[in-house]
Amino acid sequence: MATLEEPIKEVLELKNYINGEWVKSEGEVRDVVNPATGKVIAKVPISTKDEINAAVEAAKEAFWDWRTTTPLARARCLFRLKELMEEHFEELSRIQTMEHGKTIDESRGETRRGIENVEVATGIPSLMMGYSLEDIATGIDEYLIRQPIGVFGIIGPFNFPFMVPLWFAPYAVATGNCIIVKPSSEDPISQVKIAELAEEAGFPPGVWNVVHGGRTVVSGMLDHPDIAGICFVGSTPVGRIIYERCGETCKRVIVQGGAKNFVLIMPDANVERTIPSLMTSFFGNAGQRCLAGANLVIVGEDDAFYRSFVDAVVDTASKIRVGYGLDEAVQMGPLRDGSKKERVVEYIESGIEEGAKLRLDGRKVKIVGDYPHTAFLNPTIFEDVTPDMKIGKEEIFGPVMCIMRAKDLDEAIDMIHSNPFGNAASIFTSNGKWAREFQYKVKVGNVGINIGIVAPMAFFPFSGMKDSFYGVLHGQGREAIRFFTESKVVIQRWF
Ligand code: NAD
Repeated sequence: MATLEEPIKEVLELKNYINGEWVKSEGEVRDVVNPATGKVIAKVPISTKDEINAAVEAAKEAFWDWRTTTPLARARCLFRLKELMEEHFEELSRIQTMEHGKTIDESRGETRRGIENVEVATGIPSLMMGYSLEDIATGIDEYLIRQPIGVFGIIGPFNFPFMVPLWFAPYAVATGNCIIVKPSSEDPISQVKIAELAEEAGFPPGVWNVVHGGRTVVSGMLDHPDIAGICFVGSTPVGRIIYERCGETCKRVIVQGGAKNFVLIMPDANVERTIPSLMTSFFGNAGQRCLAGANLVIVGEDDAFYRSFVDAVVDTASKIRVGYGLDEAVQMGPLRDGSKKERVVEYIESGIEEGAKLRLDGRKVKIVGDYPHTAFLNPTIFEDVTPDMKIGKEEIFGPVMCIMRAKDLDEAIDMIHSNPFGNAASIFTSNGKWAREFQYKVKVGNVGINIGIVAPMAFFPFSGMKDSFYGVLHGQGREAIRFFTESKVVIQRWF
């Protein structure tokens, strides 16, 4: 199949979007490189403290007019944004493939999931409703209203550059708040495109801002008294700093952090239907997902089942076509960059040193097409992994499957609980009792039953537990509406 046309034809000079204007930053500039081709596709600024302060000032200025705009009028901006995103669907998807490396199908899926959050947020007139009770005492009524709070900072990770900020942004502006999005500087282009569409959709100046950069911008947000709250998605160590700092400065906060997700195969699993799910769970997005499968636990003491299942998994994984994601025949793209590949290679080496058995060695890179191998790896599979090995314990964030064995369901659940993360886990079984027991006991935020590690829809919260999530309310849907609003209770006497 031919490689699709690239939507980015020349190197983009990215600007900040502050108060409805595209402003050149004074900060240093870094290259954004297409990980498959190795070509520079954009220059991104690392903005200064003054620039983040200017964005907060603009958002604060815009807040009162925007919060007094009716929810229906705010929803109309979101309807227009959704329509524009649909019109630009393919362009937005191809940009993600170019800036991140994922396959075009994965990018299209990401675009769709992002748009779904805009769609859900258009329901704001009913989502934001409070409640009331007449005659709490004779002649006295009580009611609860939800009110917007002010300015929110949204800090995105590199692995879902388009979708993740949309877990928050549409709900924040729908409820009447103003936002500053700080995309990952590794792949910031799709957030620029979204801001362009938000401008076209008619969001007033200062409501939707984008400031590029790194630590300076993030600490500028954390320290600023006019930032009411932060939504952060990224690694757990950085998330912990953000959570603690928001505690010190009394800001609302959502921190969605790292993961190490387990998939359990019970002896009665439907093998034929399970294996394709495992391929997307473990090797989709080249394993760079907080919802990637990481540890595959084969439960039971049936050695023949174990052997035939593992052989089938290895055989299927070895046939995954790796290459440039704009080639529609490609099933797995590169890592985001060479340094991320190096990090994964170090994990593979540590697995070998700790005695795990390397069944499929993705370091022997074989790709479709003639591209530099800098950021490419092929699927990698280890057997004989234990939960205390580095590869069994830590987030690798690459296309590496670690196979373990457990004698029964209890032991498998104990393995999951021995890990500090609690993002997701899945079970494959035909037994209703096992399925019920698993979903009841397992301490993770997102559970799959006969389905791989999958993301919740936009009208459900994007959950997480333990070191995968710090906070109380989550992104997406009703919980996001609650996060971005304060409840006010009014008691009124009828004279
Ligand atoms: P990261 O923590 O390196 O960066 C996340 C964001 O924080 C980026 O915008 C980055 O510029 C900024 N940042 C990085 N270091 C910082 C510092 N010291 N101070 C202030 N800001 C800093 O994460 P990443 O590598 O971009 O993303 C991958 C991680 O995100 C993985 O751990 C993955 O599991 C996690 N993730 C979690 C979820 C979830 O819902 N739980 C979803 C997607 C990704």
